[in-house]
Amino acid sequence: MDNKQPVAAALSRRQIVALGAATLAASTWPLAGRADDKKTSSSGSTTIALANTGITGKRVVVVGGGMAGMTAAKYLRLWGGPGVQVTLVDPDAVYTSNIMSNLVLNGSRTVASLQFKRDALTSRYGVLRKAASLVAIDAAAHEVTLSDGSRLGYDRLVLAPGVSFDDAYGLTQTDYDTRTPHAWRAGPQTTLLRQRIAAMSNGDTFVMTIPKAPYRCPPGPYERACLVADYLKTAKGPNCRVVVLDENLAIQAERHTFETAFNQIHAGVIDYVPGAFGIEIDAASGVVRYVDALGLTRTIAARVVNPIPPHRAVGSAGDGWMARAGLNNGPDGRWAGVDMLSYETTALPGSGIHVLGDAAVTGMPKAGHVANQEAKICADAIVRAFLGQGPDPAPVANSACYSPVTAGTASWLTAVYQYDPLDRRMKIAAGGGRTTINGAPATATESAVISSGNFQDMGVWFKTLMADTAG
Ligand SMILES: Cc1cc2nc3c(=O)[nH]c(=O)nc-3n(C[C@H](O)[C@H](O)[C@H](O)COP(=O)(O)OP(=O)(O)OC[C@H]3O[C@@H](n4cnc5c(N)ncnc54)[C@H](O)[C@@H]3O)c2cc1C
Repeated sequence: MDNKQPVAAALSRRQIVALGAATLAASTWPLAGRADDKKTSSSGSTTIALANTGITGKRVVVVGGGMAGMTAAKYLRLWGGPGVQVTLVDPDAVYTSNIMSNLVLNGSRTVASLQFKRDALTSRYGVLRKAASLVAIDAAAHEVTLSDGSRLGYDRLVLAPGVSFDDAYGLTQTDYDTRTPHAWRAGPQTTLLRQRIAAMSNGDTFVMTIPKAPYRCPPGPYERACLVADYLKTAKGPNCRVVVLDENLAIQAERHTFETAFNQIHAGVIDYVPGAFGIEIDAASGVVRYVDALGLTRTIAARVVNPIPPHRAVGSAGDGWMARAGLNNGPDGRWAGVDMLSYETTALPGSGIHVLGDAAVTGMPKAGHVANQEAKICADAIVRAFLGQGPDPAPVANSACYSPVTAGTASWLTAVYQYDPLDRRMKIAAGGGRTTINGAPATATESAVISSGNFQDMGVWFKTLMADTAG
Protein backbone atom coordinates (compact mmCIF):
# COMPACT_ATOMS: atom_id res chain seq x y z
CA MET A 1 0.00 0.00 0.00
CA ASP A 2 1.16 3.48 -0.76
CA ASN A 3 0.27 5.70 2.16
CA LYS A 4 1.27 8.79 0.23
CA GLN A 5 -1.50 8.35 -2.29
CA PRO A 6 -4.68 10.04 -1.06
CA VAL A 7 -7.06 7.90 -3.09
CA ALA A 8 -9.89 8.66 -0.68
CA ALA A 9 -9.39 12.35 -1.23
CA ALA A 10 -9.69 12.06 -4.98
CA LEU A 11 -12.83 9.97 -4.71
CA SER A 12 -14.44 12.32 -2.25
CA ARG A 13 -13.98 15.41 -4.30
CA ARG A 14 -14.99 13.77 -7.53
CA GLN A 15 -18.08 12.23 -6.02
CA ILE A 16 -19.15 15.34 -4.25
CA VAL A 17 -19.12 17.25 -7.50
CA ALA A 18 -20.79 14.46 -9.46
CA LEU A 19 -23.41 13.41 -7.01
CA GLY A 20 -24.25 16.43 -4.93
CA ALA A 21 -25.41 15.26 -1.56
CA ALA A 22 -27.20 12.08 -2.54
CA THR A 23 -24.57 9.34 -2.24
CA LEU A 24 -21.80 10.88 -0.22
CA ALA A 25 -21.76 8.14 2.35
CA ALA A 26 -19.64 5.82 0.28
CA SER A 27 -17.15 8.46 -0.79
CA THR A 28 -14.09 7.08 0.96
CA TRP A 29 -14.76 3.50 -0.02
CA PRO A 30 -12.73 1.60 -0.93
CA LEU A 31 -9.44 3.04 0.29
CA ALA A 32 -6.25 2.37 -1.64
CA GLY A 33 -7.73 -0.68 -3.34
CA ARG A 34 -7.35 -2.62 -0.14
CA ALA A 35 -10.55 -4.67 -0.22
CA ASP A 36 -11.31 -6.76 -3.25
CA ASP A 37 -15.02 -6.39 -2.34
CA LYS A 38 -16.00 -9.53 -4.19
CA LYS A 39 -19.49 -10.71 -3.34
CA THR A 40 -20.16 -14.42 -3.33
CA SER A 41 -23.46 -15.99 -2.59
CA SER A 42 -23.54 -18.78 -0.05
CA SER A 43 -26.78 -20.45 1.05
CA GLY A 44 -28.85 -17.43 0.16
CA SER A 45 -26.88 -15.01 2.33
CA THR A 46 -24.16 -12.78 0.97
CA THR A 47 -20.60 -13.16 2.12
CA ILE A 48 -18.14 -10.39 1.43
CA ALA A 49 -14.61 -11.53 0.70
CA LEU A 50 -12.30 -9.80 3.17
CA ALA A 51 -9.01 -8.27 2.12
CA ASN A 52 -5.97 -10.51 2.06
CA THR A 53 -3.57 -8.36 4.08
CA GLY A 54 -1.51 -11.05 5.78
CA ILE A 55 -2.31 -9.56 9.19
CA THR A 56 -2.77 -12.25 11.84
CA GLY A 57 -3.78 -12.43 15.51
CA LYS A 58 -4.95 -8.84 16.04
CA ARG A 59 -7.92 -7.99 18.27
CA VAL A 60 -9.92 -4.77 18.08
CA VAL A 61 -12.73 -3.96 20.50
CA VAL A 62 -15.22 -1.36 19.23
CA VAL A 63 -17.41 0.17 21.92
CA GLY A 64 -20.72 1.63 20.72
CA GLY A 65 -22.66 0.27 17.77
CA GLY A 66 -23.97 3.56 16.41
CA MET A 67 -23.04 5.46 13.27
CA ALA A 68 -19.31 5.54 14.04
CA GLY A 69 -18.95 2.17 15.76
CA MET A 70 -20.83 0.08 13.19
CA THR A 71 -18.86 1.64 10.33
CA ALA A 72 -15.54 1.13 12.11
CA ALA A 73 -16.31 -2.52 12.88
CA LYS A 74 -17.33 -3.25 9.29
CA TYR A 75 -14.39 -1.56 7.63
CA LEU A 76 -11.83 -2.97 10.07
CA ARG A 77 -12.87 -6.44 8.93
CA LEU A 78 -13.28 -5.53 5.27
CA TRP A 79 -9.93 -3.81 4.97
CA GLY A 80 -8.03 -5.63 7.73
CA GLY A 81 -8.94 -9.16 6.70
CA PRO A 82 -9.75 -12.30 8.67
CA GLY A 83 -6.68 -11.91 10.90
CA VAL A 84 -8.25 -8.84 12.54
CA GLN A 85 -10.79 -10.03 15.10
CA VAL A 86 -13.35 -7.30 15.76
CA THR A 87 -15.76 -7.35 18.71
CA LEU A 88 -18.55 -4.75 18.74
CA VAL A 89 -19.91 -3.94 22.20
CA ASP A 90 -23.34 -2.29 22.59
CA PRO A 91 -26.10 -2.96 25.14
CA ASP A 92 -28.96 -2.34 22.70
CA ALA A 93 -30.25 -5.11 20.43
CA VAL A 94 -30.99 -2.65 17.62
CA TYR A 95 -29.70 0.78 16.68
CA THR A 96 -32.28 3.57 16.48
CA SER A 97 -31.19 6.28 14.06
CA ASN A 98 -31.38 9.86 15.26
CA ILE A 99 -31.20 10.92 11.63
CA MET A 100 -34.78 11.38 10.34
CA SER A 101 -36.16 11.13 13.88
CA ASN A 102 -37.62 14.65 13.70
CA LEU A 103 -40.00 13.20 11.11
CA VAL A 104 -41.53 11.05 13.86
CA LEU A 105 -42.70 14.26 15.53
CA ASN A 106 -45.01 15.20 12.65
CA GLY A 107 -46.22 11.62 12.28
CA SER A 108 -44.61 10.96 8.92
CA ARG A 109 -42.23 8.26 10.22
CA THR A 110 -42.32 5.75 13.08
CA VAL A 111 -39.48 4.99 15.48
CA ALA A 112 -39.63 1.38 14.21
CA SER A 113 -38.78 2.63 10.70
CA LEU A 114 -35.54 4.06 12.11
CA GLN A 115 -34.35 0.83 13.72
CA PHE A 116 -31.44 -1.08 12.24
CA LYS A 117 -30.21 -4.54 13.19
CA ARG A 118 -26.49 -5.21 13.30
CA ASP A 119 -26.83 -8.78 11.98
CA ALA A 120 -25.21 -8.04 8.61
CA LEU A 121 -22.03 -6.94 10.35
CA THR A 122 -21.75 -10.48 11.67
CA SER A 123 -23.08 -12.50 8.73
CA ARG A 124 -21.25 -10.57 6.02
CA TYR A 125 -18.08 -9.41 7.70
CA GLY A 126 -17.67 -11.72 10.70
CA VAL A 127 -17.87 -9.01 13.37
CA LEU A 128 -18.33 -10.56 16.83
CA ARG A 129 -20.93 -8.85 19.01
CA LYS A 130 -21.34 -8.47 22.75
CA ALA A 131 -24.61 -7.21 24.28
CA ALA A 132 -23.17 -5.21 27.18
CA SER A 133 -21.90 -1.77 28.17
CA LEU A 134 -18.33 -0.75 28.72
CA VAL A 135 -17.76 0.11 32.39
CA ALA A 136 -13.97 0.42 32.75
CA ILE A 137 -10.79 0.66 30.70
CA ASP A 138 -7.42 -0.63 31.89
CA ALA A 139 -5.20 1.17 29.41
CA ALA A 140 -1.99 -0.34 30.80
CA ALA A 141 -3.28 -3.92 30.52
CA HIS A 142 -5.04 -3.26 27.18
CA GLU A 143 -8.27 -4.63 28.64
CA VAL A 144 -11.87 -3.44 29.08
CA THR A 145 -14.45 -4.53 31.64
CA LEU A 146 -18.07 -4.86 30.55
CA SER A 147 -21.34 -4.56 32.48
CA ASP A 148 -21.76 -8.36 32.54
CA GLY A 149 -18.45 -8.65 34.40
CA SER A 150 -16.57 -10.05 31.40
CA ARG A 151 -13.24 -8.66 30.24
CA LEU A 152 -11.94 -8.25 26.72
CA GLY A 153 -8.31 -7.79 25.78
CA TYR A 154 -7.40 -5.70 22.76
CA ASP A 155 -4.56 -4.55 20.55
CA ARG A 156 -6.66 -1.50 19.60
CA LEU A 157 -9.70 -0.06 21.35
CA VAL A 158 -12.18 2.09 19.39
CA LEU A 159 -14.60 4.12 21.52
CA ALA A 160 -17.75 5.44 19.81
CA PRO A 161 -20.32 5.77 22.60
CA GLY A 162 -22.08 8.97 21.46
CA VAL A 163 -23.34 11.54 23.95
CA SER A 164 -25.04 11.81 27.33
CA PHE A 165 -27.15 14.73 28.51
CA ASP A 166 -26.63 17.02 31.50
CA ASP A 167 -29.26 17.67 34.14
CA ALA A 168 -30.03 21.26 33.07
CA TYR A 169 -32.57 24.08 33.49
CA GLY A 170 -33.75 22.49 36.78
CA LEU A 171 -34.57 19.17 35.09
CA THR A 172 -33.39 15.63 35.82
CA GLN A 173 -32.92 12.53 33.70
CA THR A 174 -36.30 11.33 35.03
CA ASP A 175 -37.93 14.54 33.77
CA TYR A 176 -36.42 13.93 30.32
CA ASP A 177 -37.76 10.36 30.34
CA THR A 178 -41.25 11.17 31.58
CA ARG A 179 -42.29 14.85 31.29
CA THR A 180 -39.96 17.02 29.27
CA PRO A 181 -38.29 14.74 26.69
CA HIS A 182 -35.25 16.02 24.86
CA ALA A 183 -35.55 13.26 22.23
CA TRP A 184 -31.98 14.10 21.18
CA ARG A 185 -31.20 10.42 21.32
CA ALA A 186 -33.93 8.72 19.30
CA GLY A 187 -36.03 6.09 21.05
CA PRO A 188 -38.73 6.15 23.74
CA GLN A 189 -38.32 9.90 24.28
CA THR A 190 -39.05 10.49 20.60
CA THR A 191 -42.31 8.57 20.94
CA LEU A 192 -43.20 10.50 24.12
CA LEU A 193 -42.52 13.85 22.45
CA ARG A 194 -44.64 12.85 19.45
CA GLN A 195 -47.52 11.92 21.78
CA ARG A 196 -47.26 15.23 23.63
CA ILE A 197 -47.22 17.26 20.40
CA ALA A 198 -50.16 15.27 18.98
CA ALA A 199 -52.16 16.12 22.13
CA MET A 200 -51.71 19.90 21.65
CA SER A 201 -54.66 22.14 20.72
CA ASN A 202 -54.96 25.24 18.58
CA GLY A 203 -53.57 28.13 20.62
CA ASP A 204 -51.05 26.04 22.62
CA THR A 205 -47.37 26.87 22.86
CA PHE A 206 -44.42 24.53 22.24
CA VAL A 207 -41.11 25.71 23.73
CA MET A 208 -37.77 24.19 22.77
CA THR A 209 -34.23 25.08 23.84
CA ILE A 210 -30.90 24.79 22.00
CA PRO A 211 -27.65 24.45 23.96
CA LYS A 212 -24.45 26.32 23.20
CA ALA A 213 -22.42 24.75 20.39
CA PRO A 214 -20.84 22.28 19.98
CA TYR A 215 -23.85 20.01 20.11
CA ARG A 216 -25.05 16.98 18.14
CA CYS A 217 -26.34 17.86 14.62
CA PRO A 218 -26.00 21.65 14.19
CA PRO A 219 -29.08 22.12 11.92
CA GLY A 220 -31.18 19.54 13.81
CA PRO A 221 -32.92 21.82 16.34
CA TYR A 222 -33.94 24.36 13.68
CA GLU A 223 -35.23 21.51 11.50
CA ARG A 224 -37.26 20.30 14.47
CA ALA A 225 -38.78 23.75 15.05
CA CYS A 226 -39.86 23.84 11.38
CA LEU A 227 -41.43 20.38 11.40
CA VAL A 228 -43.31 20.98 14.66
CA ALA A 229 -44.58 24.36 13.37
CA ASP A 230 -45.63 22.78 10.08
CA TYR A 231 -47.50 20.00 11.87
CA LEU A 232 -49.22 22.29 14.37
CA LYS A 233 -50.51 24.77 11.83
CA THR A 234 -51.68 21.96 9.53
CA ALA A 235 -53.19 19.63 12.14
CA LYS A 236 -54.24 21.95 14.97
CA GLY A 237 -54.91 25.40 13.54
CA PRO A 238 -53.21 28.76 12.99
CA ASN A 239 -52.86 29.91 16.60
CA CYS A 240 -50.16 27.60 17.94
CA ARG A 241 -46.71 28.99 18.68
CA VAL A 242 -43.28 27.40 18.57
CA VAL A 243 -40.80 29.34 20.70
CA VAL A 244 -37.14 28.51 20.06
CA LEU A 245 -34.85 29.58 22.91
CA ASP A 246 -31.36 29.44 21.44
CA GLU A 247 -28.44 29.82 23.84
CA ASN A 248 -26.33 30.67 20.81
CA LEU A 249 -26.33 34.17 19.40
CA ALA A 250 -27.36 33.06 15.91
CA ILE A 251 -28.58 30.11 13.87
CA GLN A 252 -25.74 27.57 13.82
CA ALA A 253 -26.21 25.96 10.39
CA GLU A 254 -28.06 26.57 7.11
CA ARG A 255 -28.72 30.14 8.10
CA HIS A 256 -30.26 31.13 4.79
CA THR A 257 -32.63 28.14 4.86
CA PHE A 258 -33.81 28.64 8.42
CA GLU A 259 -34.14 32.42 8.16
CA THR A 260 -36.38 31.81 5.16
CA ALA A 261 -38.30 29.14 7.06
CA PHE A 262 -38.73 31.18 10.25
CA ASN A 263 -39.51 34.53 8.56
CA GLN A 264 -41.55 33.36 5.60
CA ILE A 265 -42.69 29.72 5.49
CA HIS A 266 -43.53 29.49 9.20
CA ALA A 267 -43.92 33.22 9.90
CA GLY A 268 -46.31 33.94 12.76
CA VAL A 269 -45.83 30.45 14.23
CA ILE A 270 -42.09 30.26 15.02
CA ASP A 271 -40.71 32.80 17.45
CA TYR A 272 -36.91 32.51 17.31
CA VAL A 273 -35.07 33.93 20.34
CA PRO A 274 -31.26 34.00 19.94
CA GLY A 275 -28.97 34.62 22.90
CA ALA A 276 -31.40 33.31 25.53
CA PHE A 277 -29.80 32.42 28.86
CA GLY A 278 -30.64 31.64 32.47
CA ILE A 279 -33.27 29.15 31.28
CA GLU A 280 -35.38 27.54 34.02
CA ILE A 281 -38.07 24.97 33.35
CA ASP A 282 -40.76 23.75 35.73
CA ALA A 283 -41.49 20.26 34.43
CA ALA A 284 -44.78 19.97 36.33
CA SER A 285 -46.42 23.22 35.18
CA GLY A 286 -44.65 23.78 31.85
CA VAL A 287 -43.63 27.29 32.92
CA VAL A 288 -40.38 28.37 31.25
CA ARG A 289 -38.35 31.38 32.42
CA TYR A 290 -35.37 32.86 30.59
CA VAL A 291 -33.42 36.06 30.19
CA ASP A 292 -33.42 37.55 26.70
CA ALA A 293 -30.54 39.25 24.90
CA LEU A 294 -31.66 42.64 26.34
CA GLY A 295 -31.41 41.26 29.88
CA LEU A 296 -35.17 41.10 30.42
CA THR A 297 -36.63 38.12 32.27
CA ARG A 298 -39.45 36.49 30.31
CA THR A 299 -41.97 33.81 31.29
CA ILE A 300 -43.85 31.48 28.97
CA ALA A 301 -46.62 29.01 29.84
CA ALA A 302 -45.94 26.08 27.53
CA ARG A 303 -48.15 23.11 26.81
CA VAL A 304 -45.12 21.10 25.71
CA VAL A 305 -41.49 21.75 26.65
CA ASN A 306 -38.68 20.18 24.65
CA PRO A 307 -35.32 21.07 26.18
CA ILE A 308 -32.22 19.98 24.28
CA PRO A 309 -29.78 20.03 27.19
CA PRO A 310 -26.03 20.53 26.94
CA HIS A 311 -24.37 17.22 26.17
CA ARG A 312 -21.00 15.54 26.44
CA ALA A 313 -19.18 12.31 25.55
CA VAL A 314 -20.71 9.29 27.28
CA GLY A 315 -18.60 8.43 30.33
CA SER A 316 -16.99 11.89 30.61
CA ALA A 317 -19.10 13.15 33.54
CA GLY A 318 -18.01 12.77 37.19
CA ASP A 319 -16.22 9.47 37.66
CA GLY A 320 -17.54 7.93 34.44
CA TRP A 321 -15.35 5.42 32.65
CA MET A 322 -14.00 7.91 30.12
CA ALA A 323 -13.12 10.40 32.86
CA ARG A 324 -11.44 7.69 34.96
CA ALA A 325 -9.30 6.78 31.97
CA GLY A 326 -8.46 10.48 31.50
CA LEU A 327 -9.66 10.53 27.89
CA ASN A 328 -11.95 13.59 28.19
CA ASN A 329 -9.15 16.08 27.52
CA GLY A 330 -11.24 18.21 25.11
CA PRO A 331 -12.95 21.54 25.94
CA ASP A 332 -14.57 21.66 29.43
CA GLY A 333 -13.69 18.00 29.95
CA ARG A 334 -16.73 17.15 27.82
CA TRP A 335 -15.13 15.62 24.76
CA ALA A 336 -12.16 13.45 23.83
CA GLY A 337 -9.26 15.11 22.03
CA VAL A 338 -7.97 13.03 19.12
CA ASP A 339 -5.24 12.99 16.49
CA MET A 340 -7.09 13.70 13.25
CA LEU A 341 -4.94 11.25 11.22
CA SER A 342 -5.84 8.19 13.27
CA TYR A 343 -8.45 9.27 15.87
CA GLU A 344 -6.07 8.02 18.55
CA THR A 345 -6.59 9.83 21.83
CA THR A 346 -4.25 12.76 22.43
CA ALA A 347 -4.61 12.15 26.17
CA LEU A 348 -2.71 8.86 25.99
CA PRO A 349 -0.66 8.92 22.77
CA GLY A 350 0.54 5.48 21.74
CA SER A 351 -2.06 3.73 23.91
CA GLY A 352 -3.92 2.21 20.95
CA ILE A 353 -7.16 3.85 22.14
CA HIS A 354 -9.17 5.71 19.49
CA VAL A 355 -12.29 7.87 19.96
CA LEU A 356 -14.78 8.56 17.18
CA GLY A 357 -18.07 10.22 16.37
CA ASP A 358 -19.91 12.66 18.59
CA ALA A 359 -17.75 11.78 21.62
CA ALA A 360 -14.64 13.28 20.01
CA VAL A 361 -13.75 16.89 19.30
CA THR A 362 -12.60 17.06 15.69
CA GLY A 363 -13.49 20.47 14.25
CA MET A 364 -16.08 18.74 12.07
CA PRO A 365 -19.78 18.79 12.95
CA LYS A 366 -21.19 16.18 15.29
CA ALA A 367 -23.15 14.34 12.62
CA GLY A 368 -23.87 10.77 11.59
CA HIS A 369 -22.47 11.22 8.11
CA VAL A 370 -19.26 12.63 9.61
CA ALA A 371 -19.13 9.76 12.15
CA ASN A 372 -19.24 7.32 9.24
CA GLN A 373 -16.34 9.13 7.57
CA GLU A 374 -14.25 9.36 10.73
CA ALA A 375 -14.71 5.62 11.26
CA LYS A 376 -13.27 4.85 7.84
CA ILE A 377 -10.23 7.07 8.40
CA CYS A 378 -9.69 5.41 11.79
CA ALA A 379 -10.15 1.86 10.43
CA ASP A 380 -7.67 2.64 7.66
CA ALA A 381 -5.13 4.00 10.17
CA ILE A 382 -5.46 0.94 12.43
CA VAL A 383 -5.01 -1.50 9.54
CA ARG A 384 -1.97 0.46 8.35
CA ALA A 385 -0.58 0.37 11.90
CA PHE A 386 -1.00 -3.42 12.01
CA LEU A 387 1.04 -3.50 8.79
CA GLY A 388 3.75 -1.35 10.36
CA GLN A 389 2.80 1.75 8.40
CA GLY A 390 1.87 5.29 9.36
CA PRO A 391 -1.61 6.71 8.77
CA ASP A 392 -2.71 8.40 5.53
CA PRO A 393 -1.12 11.86 5.87
CA ALA A 394 -3.88 13.64 3.92
CA PRO A 395 -7.30 12.28 4.88
CA VAL A 396 -10.42 13.79 3.38
CA ALA A 397 -13.94 13.46 4.76
CA ASN A 398 -17.28 14.74 3.67
CA SER A 399 -20.51 15.65 5.33
CA ALA A 400 -24.07 15.90 4.09
CA CYS A 401 -27.14 16.84 5.97
CA TYR A 402 -30.69 17.12 4.69
CA SER A 403 -33.13 19.27 6.66
CA PRO A 404 -36.85 18.80 6.17
CA VAL A 405 -38.60 22.15 6.52
CA THR A 406 -42.17 20.94 5.95
CA ALA A 407 -43.70 17.48 5.63
CA GLY A 408 -42.74 17.41 1.95
CA THR A 409 -39.86 19.84 1.37
CA ALA A 410 -36.24 19.96 2.47
CA SER A 411 -32.95 21.80 2.19
CA TRP A 412 -29.40 20.42 2.39
CA LEU A 413 -25.89 21.34 3.54
CA THR A 414 -22.68 19.70 2.41
CA ALA A 415 -18.94 20.12 2.85
CA VAL A 416 -15.66 18.37 2.10
CA TYR A 417 -13.10 18.44 4.93
CA GLN A 418 -9.40 18.18 4.35
CA TYR A 419 -6.55 17.68 6.82
CA ASP A 420 -4.46 20.82 7.37
CA PRO A 421 -0.98 19.70 8.49
CA LEU A 422 -0.13 23.18 9.86
CA ASP A 423 -2.61 23.13 12.71
CA ARG A 424 -3.47 19.43 12.45
CA ARG A 425 -7.21 20.00 12.05
CA MET A 426 -9.80 19.05 9.47
CA LYS A 427 -10.90 22.12 7.53
CA ILE A 428 -13.56 22.74 4.92
CA ALA A 429 -12.06 22.54 1.44
CA ALA A 430 -13.32 24.33 -1.63
CA GLY A 431 -12.92 23.19 -5.24
CA GLY A 432 -9.36 22.05 -5.92
CA GLY A 433 -8.84 21.26 -2.25
CA ARG A 434 -8.11 24.84 -1.12
CA THR A 435 -9.15 25.57 2.47
CA THR A 436 -9.24 29.32 1.86
CA ILE A 437 -10.68 31.46 -0.92
CA ASN A 438 -9.19 34.96 -1.23
CA GLY A 439 -7.87 34.61 2.31
CA ALA A 440 -11.21 33.65 3.86
CA PRO A 441 -11.95 30.12 5.10
CA ALA A 442 -13.94 27.99 2.66
CA THR A 443 -17.50 27.38 3.80
CA ALA A 444 -20.05 24.61 3.53
CA THR A 445 -22.44 24.65 0.57
CA GLU A 446 -26.12 25.15 1.33
CA SER A 447 -29.01 24.35 -0.99
CA ALA A 448 -30.30 27.49 -2.73
CA VAL A 449 -33.88 26.25 -2.50
CA ILE A 450 -36.20 24.42 -0.14
CA SER A 451 -37.88 21.87 -2.42
CA SER A 452 -39.75 18.61 -2.74
CA GLY A 453 -36.91 17.34 -4.95
CA ASN A 454 -34.52 17.74 -2.02
CA PHE A 455 -36.99 15.83 0.14
CA GLN A 456 -36.90 12.91 -2.32
CA ASP A 457 -33.09 13.00 -2.46
CA MET A 458 -33.02 12.91 1.34
CA GLY A 459 -34.58 9.44 1.33
CA VAL A 460 -31.93 8.16 -1.09
CA TRP A 461 -29.11 9.71 0.94
CA PHE A 462 -30.37 8.20 4.21
CA LYS A 463 -30.78 4.74 2.71
CA THR A 464 -27.29 4.91 1.20
CA LEU A 465 -25.69 6.12 4.40
CA MET A 466 -27.33 3.44 6.53
CA ALA A 467 -26.49 0.69 4.02
CA ASP A 468 -22.87 1.80 4.08
CA THR A 469 -22.86 1.92 7.88
CA ALA A 470 -24.77 -1.20 8.89
CA GLY A 471 -25.26 -3.23 5.72
C1 LIG B 1 -32.93 14.89 15.67
C2 LIG B 1 -31.59 14.56 15.08
C3 LIG B 1 -31.40 14.63 13.71
C4 LIG B 1 -30.17 14.34 13.15
N1 LIG B 1 -30.01 14.44 11.79
C5 LIG B 1 -28.81 14.19 11.23
C6 LIG B 1 -28.63 14.30 9.82
O1 LIG B 1 -29.54 14.65 9.07
N2 LIG B 1 -27.40 14.02 9.31
C7 LIG B 1 -26.37 13.62 10.09
O2 LIG B 1 -25.29 13.36 9.56
N3 LIG B 1 -26.50 13.54 11.45
C8 LIG B 1 -27.68 13.80 12.03
N4 LIG B 1 -27.83 13.70 13.40
C9 LIG B 1 -26.65 13.44 14.25
C10 LIG B 1 -26.29 11.94 14.34
O3 LIG B 1 -27.40 11.19 14.75
C11 LIG B 1 -25.15 11.74 15.33
O4 LIG B 1 -24.13 12.67 15.04
C12 LIG B 1 -24.59 10.33 15.21
O5 LIG B 1 -25.55 9.41 15.63
C13 LIG B 1 -23.31 10.17 16.03
O6 LIG B 1 -22.84 8.87 15.88
P1 LIG B 1 -22.08 8.15 17.09
O7 LIG B 1 -21.72 6.81 16.59
O8 LIG B 1 -21.04 9.02 17.64
O9 LIG B 1 -23.19 8.03 18.24
P2 LIG B 1 -24.55 7.20 18.21
O10 LIG B 1 -25.03 7.03 16.85
O11 LIG B 1 -25.42 7.84 19.23
O12 LIG B 1 -24.14 5.76 18.75
C14 LIG B 1 -23.62 5.56 20.04
C15 LIG B 1 -23.80 4.08 20.40
O13 LIG B 1 -23.01 3.82 21.56
C16 LIG B 1 -23.74 2.96 22.43
N5 LIG B 1 -23.20 3.13 23.78
C17 LIG B 1 -23.34 4.20 24.61
N6 LIG B 1 -22.67 3.97 25.76
C18 LIG B 1 -22.10 2.75 25.65
C19 LIG B 1 -21.28 1.96 26.52
N7 LIG B 1 -20.91 2.37 27.75
N8 LIG B 1 -20.89 0.73 26.11
C20 LIG B 1 -21.25 0.27 24.87
N9 LIG B 1 -22.01 0.99 24.01
C21 LIG B 1 -22.43 2.20 24.39
C22 LIG B 1 -25.19 3.41 22.24
O14 LIG B 1 -26.09 2.37 22.61
C23 LIG B 1 -25.24 3.72 20.75
O15 LIG B 1 -25.64 2.59 19.99
C24 LIG B 1 -29.08 13.96 13.99
C25 LIG B 1 -29.27 13.88 15.37
C26 LIG B 1 -30.51 14.17 15.92
C27 LIG B 1 -30.70 14.08 17.41
